[in-house]
Amino acid sequence: MSNYPSRAEMLEKTRQQAAKTNLNRKDPDEFRPEKVKGDVKKSYYFYVLPDIQKGEKCKSSGTKDGNASEGSLNYYYQNGYHWIDNTKLECPRCHDNEECALCSLDFELMKGSDDKVYKSSVRSKYLASAHYAVNIYFLNFKDNPEELRGKVMWFNAPKTVFDKWDACITNDDPGSEETELKAFGIFYHPYEGSYPFKLHVANKGDFNSYEESKFLAGNFAPLSVKIENGKPVLDNEGNKVPDLDRIQEILDQRHYLPSKFQTRDQARIQKVVDKYTAKESGNDDAEVIEEEVVEEPKKPAMKRVVKEELLEETPPFVPTKTAEKVVEKTVEKVAEKKAPVVKKEETLDDEDDEELRALLDNVKKKSK
Ligand SMILES: [Zn+2]
Repeated sequence: MSNYPSRAEMLEKTRQQAAKTNLNRKDPDEFRPEKVKGDVKKSYYFYVLPDIQKGEKCKSSGTKDGNASEGSLNYYYQNGYHWIDNTKLECPRCHDNEECALCSLDFELMKGSDDKVYKSSVRSKYLASAHYAVNIYFLNFKDNPEELRGKVMWFNAPKTVFDKWDACITNDDPGSEETELKAFGIFYHPYEGSYPFKLHVANKGDFNSYEESKFLAGNFAPLSVKIENGKPVLDNEGNKVPDLDRIQEILDQRHYLPSKFQTRDQARIQKVVDKYTAKESGNDDAEVIEEEVVEEPKKPAMKRVVKEELLEETPPFVPTKTAEKVVEKTVEKVAEKKAPVVKKEETLDDEDDEELRALLDNVKKKSK
């Protein structure tokens, strides 16, 4: 009996396993834009939230008091994974800027060829593409889907979207009221001011394209503002006064982003590379190694999650029939509900800044 694990040990192990399994399920706190088809376009309006600092209250921190055990250096958490033999392998290069044997193999293979088709097949097979996870707060705005309004979720943004955020950080030019206002500098300060971001989703080559997404530069304001008699309260300088309590409430709902990803497994990655190298050189041991790698249990839940991502971003994977059906269904729904709204949105944020401003004020009032 002395070797038998204690209840406490069992509990620890069981909880650890459960946490691992949960990582492979679809996370209800993660925002994934629906896949659009044909001419359907969809927009979401949100604020990117600032990064969590050590000791701040947040969700999924994994600590007893629910506060973050570590702060982060940036407003985003960079990540990326390899999809090998139906298994998701988090990439040390994308996550931690560390050497990744699989990425290195890919670079090596691409370097040795001028063949574009071959290069792109290698790229899609082995290379992990970087994503940027952030916490976002959906405006309580009528053009946002109802179930998202006023909610804090996390979003693993692709590079196209991240580049727009990064362009704002590097831009010092505020533009002008007469020509065009430009978002510049920090866009996620909860008190001094944030720019709402319009995530614009269109179809391009059967994948979601976010190219037309942008900040609404004319609507710089605190995350939530004080409202009196239906109007935002202004300070002596005419700036909107932040609603401190509501802002704190929003910030407390941020998710601890590192906990949303599995730890990196350099040994497994090396095994995949060894298997590839062995195959190339005709090594007899290849079979043995292959068995080891494939033996890893294939989890259907995980497969599903990753496929959804692949539907959005990564060209080479052909979705299964079931997956396609689900997507078609959602898109139909979106098409009949959303199609007529599109034009209105464009007028709102391109031509009639005043109106949008009023709407956003309204939004803040409601979200109070
Ligand atoms: Zn890698």
